[in-house]
Amino acid sequence: MNCCIRGAITAEENSKACIWENTKIMLSEIIKSNGLNIEDIISILFTCTRDLDATYPAVAAREIGIVDASLMCAQELYVEGSLKMCIRAAVTVETDKKQRDMNHIYLKGAKRLRPDIVNKSKIEAVAIDGPAGSGKSTVARLISKELGYIYADTGAMYRAVGLYCLDNGIGIFDDESIIKALPLININIEFDNGVQRISLNDKDVTEEIRTQSVAEAASKVAAIPEVRELLVELQRKIAENNKVVMDGRDIGTNVLKNARVKIYLDAEVEERAKRRCNELSEKGISFDYNNIIKEIIQRDDYDKNRKVNPLSVAEDAVVIDTTGLSIEQVKNKILEITKRK
Ligand code: C5P
Repeated sequence: MNCCIRGAITAEENSKACIWENTKIMLSEIIKSNGLNIEDIISILFTCTRDLDATYPAVAAREIGIVDASLMCAQELYVEGSLKMCIRAAVTVETDKKQRDMNHIYLKGAKRLRPDIVNKSKIEAVAIDGPAGSGKSTVARLISKELGYIYADTGAMYRAVGLYCLDNGIGIFDDESIIKALPLININIEFDNGVQRISLNDKDVTEEIRTQSVAEAASKVAAIPEVRELLVELQRKIAENNKVVMDGRDIGTNVLKNARVKIYLDAEVEERAKRRCNELSEKGISFDYNNIIKEIIQRDDYDKNRKVNPLSVAEDAVVIDTTGLSIEQVKNKILEITKRK
């Protein structure tokens, strides 16, 4: 099937080098964030605002190896309030995905052409993304209570699929067997006092999925497009029927692209490891700090570099570095942002 991805970026000056450089950045991000190969691109229509006329942006596409696609450049209509020095692209691609799953890319302050329309279609959701140990789940739970929203933990869903594989002797790198098993995996989500409980084939696994081995299995199965498709559908259904605070890795960039509030939580790796160690010692579980650091770095690497919907910051997300901040401080920051939006 063919889909079309929009991209936009602003340039610092009207020069060949600057237009080509920015066009390359925009195209590379479109390719990376949608898990495309160069050969998947059928055609690209470029437009530039009239203050960018030093060259055609299409040249940059050829320079990064897009040789077979048809390219076309045009000048953008000048409308009052148009962005300055903006390059846009409409990239038509051949893909197995649906149009609504395309990641549109807006870089360096280049916004959608009609923000008025986009704002109207926002949904009442707070999307919180970030790497392992950034404090997402604790903060998301507190915020959902304050707002009276439900809290949906999407990591738990990937963990449930990981647990199924471990319990049934399916290798976590054996994509083919995992895909075959998907029809046998029935994940059910319920909300008890606004907090999610998850069952796997009718067994409540809310606590069982919290181990390190399940986390690693989750990270591996989460790289399989078929697994993501199944779970993303479930996640979108939850948001259709409820006001929700949803946390994960791709909520703002993919699952709920039209969430009213998008937050990206981050923290230095040492701080995240320390938090994990505290959690384990509170539960009386022994651990090795260096191993924890290693595991976190490995999981980050896997989540950020997978082909489909990797962990990344949504263009319209507010980034909060939680290093050195208390849970209370992070919670208040997010509530403040939520009130403003
Ligand atoms: O957040 P949590 O540690 O429970 O997530 C487990 C794993 O599930 C992550 O490492 C990530 O690979 C995957 N995940 C994902 N997309 C999400 C949520 C989690 O890929 N939205």
